[in-house]
Amino acid sequence: MQELHEGSKAPPNVPATDLMASSPTVVADLTDEHYLDPANFEWPLLRSEQQTEVGVDSVVAAPPDGIPQSVDAEPVIGPTGRPWPDLPTPPPLTEHGPALIIAMCNQKGGVGKTTTTINLGAALAELGRHVLLVDFDPQGSLSVGLGVNPHTLSVSIYNLLLSRDTSIDDVINQTNVPGLDILPSNIDLSAAEIQLVSEVAREQTLVRLLEAVRSRYDVILIDCAPSLGLLTINALTAADRVIMPLECEFFALRGIALLTDTIAKVQDRLNPSLEILGILGTMYDPRTLHSREVLERVVEAFGEQVFHTVIRRTVKFPETTVAGEPITTYAPTSPGAEAHRSLAREVLARCRVV
Ligand code: ADP
Ligand code: MG
Repeated sequence: MQELHEGSKAPPNVPATDLMASSPTVVADLTDEHYLDPANFEWPLLRSEQQTEVGVDSVVAAPPDGIPQSVDAEPVIGPTGRPWPDLPTPPPLTEHGPALIIAMCNQKGGVGKTTTTINLGAALAELGRHVLLVDFDPQGSLSVGLGVNPHTLSVSIYNLLLSRDTSIDDVINQTNVPGLDILPSNIDLSAAEIQLVSEVAREQTLVRLLEAVRSRYDVILIDCAPSLGLLTINALTAADRVIMPLECEFFALRGIALLTDTIAKVQDRLNPSLEILGILGTMYDPRTLHSREVLERVVEAFGEQVFHTVIRRTVKFPETTVAGEPITTYAPTSPGAEAHRSLAREVLARCRVV
């Protein structure tokens, strides 16, 4: 299909009828009218899609995982097209808490919320921060990704939300990464969404819970479910900051208006101190025009809100889920691990408090 687009001036020796016979579905695409019609102007995207077939994993990444060396002291341009900033390693902390609470939010599924929560959390823990990850998605992917089996949990965040008899310390699990703890969840949490509706101050349920442990941690990261329902509203009400992961893919910007609108409503009515910490490009593939174009559009639309750090597409991430550990321990020297270390430094630089 794409090759036929490329050769739209049909090979000279092949009658058009032969092409029609061998590939009837592309007949319309072979006519001049097709390309003269502005409605069909999608060339760059189609061509860029062709390039996605290339082995992406072998690509050596740009900043932070191999900043292109500028020969003549020109500023280094990062993947977002802006000069790459200095992101120093922050000094170790002498004391811990109170935590800054960050929600990882995008109502679209599969954009990298859970992957970012796990790996950013692990990278922050490497920097000596005490980190609590909150699995606030009934699918329990965050728990699975850190080696917790959601089916065998005797108590989960669901019990904390709905019964006063459960202590948060009974639910917090330590992970294999020093300094990284998790509040796991499982499918029970989906019932909480319905049961919470009849509670008093239902939107503040999570923030009340987290208050009890806030002084022990430096950062609490909440992995939201792919919806803008009551659970996500609870996460946004509890959070000081929100990170929006965006997949570098054509439909990425769809729904972002709805998300920013929801954030604005939460700011107005429930949590005036909520701020957007940044928009994170994920699953970026610099070999494809498509990925680069989407990232360019995101930067055009959101400017400095976009993190300089961009997370590339690599099969290492799905592998880490199977391994049940973060990329920083599974493949410590991989570009993906370096990218999350860079994100951790950028997050701390933007927060300036932890
Ligand atoms: P979400 O939590 O937004 O639904 P996930 O973090 O679970 O998204 O990611 C969805 C899927 O994509 C998972 O299988 C994950 O392993 C994979 N994935 C996430 N980030 C990347 C990446 N940078 N490159 C390749 N695959 C990724
Ligand atoms: Mg998820």
